[in-house]
Amino acid sequence: MATSLPEGYLPYFKTWEEKIGAFIEFSGESKAAVPSAPAPENALKDLPFAVKDNIAVKDFSISCGSKLLEHTKSPYTATAVQKLEALGGAVIGKTNMDEFGMGSSTDNSAIKRTNNPWDQSRVAGGSSGGSAAAVSAGLVPYALGSDTGGSIRQPAAFCGVVGLKPTYGAVSRFGLVAYASSLESIGILADTTERCRAVFAAIRGGDPLDQTSQDAPQGAPALYGDTHSKTVPRTIGVLSPEAIAKALASETGVSEGDKEAALRAAAEAAVLEDEVARGFELAKTRLKALGHTLLDVELPSLKYGVPAYYTIATAEASANLARFDSIRYGQRPDWAENPDDLIDKARDAGFGAEVKLRILLGTFVLRSGFQDRYYLRAQRIRGGIRRNFESYLGGSDYSLTNTVDAAHHCEAILLPVFPTRAFGRGPGNLTPFAQKAADLYTCCANLAGLPALAFPASVEGGLPVGVQLIGRAFAEGTLLDIVESYEASHPFPHPAGYQKFWS
Ligand code: GLN
Repeated sequence: MATSLPEGYLPYFKTWEEKIGAFIEFSGESKAAVPSAPAPENALKDLPFAVKDNIAVKDFSISCGSKLLEHTKSPYTATAVQKLEALGGAVIGKTNMDEFGMGSSTDNSAIKRTNNPWDQSRVAGGSSGGSAAAVSAGLVPYALGSDTGGSIRQPAAFCGVVGLKPTYGAVSRFGLVAYASSLESIGILADTTERCRAVFAAIRGGDPLDQTSQDAPQGAPALYGDTHSKTVPRTIGVLSPEAIAKALASETGVSEGDKEAALRAAAEAAVLEDEVARGFELAKTRLKALGHTLLDVELPSLKYGVPAYYTIATAEASANLARFDSIRYGQRPDWAENPDDLIDKARDAGFGAEVKLRILLGTFVLRSGFQDRYYLRAQRIRGGIRRNFESYLGGSDYSLTNTVDAAHHCEAILLPVFPTRAFGRGPGNLTPFAQKAADLYTCCANLAGLPALAFPASVEGGLPVGVQLIGRAFAEGTLLDIVESYEASHPFPHPAGYQKFWS
């Protein structure tokens, strides 16, 4: 194995893991062959890392949090992981997640429960909850996750760590088990911004095995800028949560009965909890104190984000999950009458309720004759959201001269991540409907394909509050610069009992 774990680590790991249940598999060592050519000295060499259990690592579990794939081992390794291993990094385990990435708590995992390191009666967030909890408790310096509608940023915010969802296509998805292919990215949960940048530098880039992947275009901001890039004052757009809540509320009254009640419930679910509103205000004050200029922005199309996201995500999921027939891999029933019966039985027993719901919803919105009404409409909203962001940030084509007028130009837009801090379980906590409505702040970056970086703004009432910056396509470097200087003056918090093993 390439990595030896620090002295005292294994008992520390055991104590925490019993409390938080972040891992589906932990080997304590890498199963990867040590790279033949010695890797050059770099920040990731000999560092262990964890990988969400929907990203392939040869000979490790690839359960995707599902009964259907429990005990399945991957025959190959994802490109992103391979790149880290080539630099001398070592996978030490696979982390828990909502089944196939569908959820916001990791409680949709069929394998186990994951608890928040800050308060074990609360969830770690989801769907990359295991990765976030493992980093937050100091069990690994960083972990890979995937973000389709917020699944890196929301658990990062709940656990008080950094979470980067890269630009769509900036990191190869080869080896990521697909949920909604046009929305998702492999990304990073890390203990520090600097580490997040080093991991992103390692995993990004075009890959012949993923035709949607690409190198950063000429003209995009450098990932490692000059000595000033971290402190240079920037214009940061701020989307006021009040403006969103107001826009959502104005949608009520347009329809009757159940729809009206659902719209009202969705509007309520987007309102920020007091502590989150306080954390958001604090982030604004601190960014201003660091010399940045804040500019109020309006993104009127954002209020349609959640319905568009769930239409597109479920449509793609219904197609992507059709491959799980239990014939080539996965758990099989003991007995079946014929192949169709075998598939029916395997899927009935193997998929959880949320996955079944989304497959049904996906086939519903794609039904012939109804595509105009749902799927194509969602695609139009998606275009509107992208144009909305681009009217402030600029588009993805860096060869064009700047099309944004100076009065509106922002280098990043600050948004909340989620309306609540880590929530608890059981009655009185967020319903599955409210959890979906609350994806409003995160899912738009996926619909627009833009990079988004969540970071801990403050701790309020004993729990971390995260905020996020959304940037122009391939401008991860800018977001990391802003957050690195924030972290330098306001170091990120750790839960009680945290021990620092990684420098
Ligand atoms: N909460 C969202 C969902 O349930 C996000 C999922 C994700 O990003 N994988 O779909």
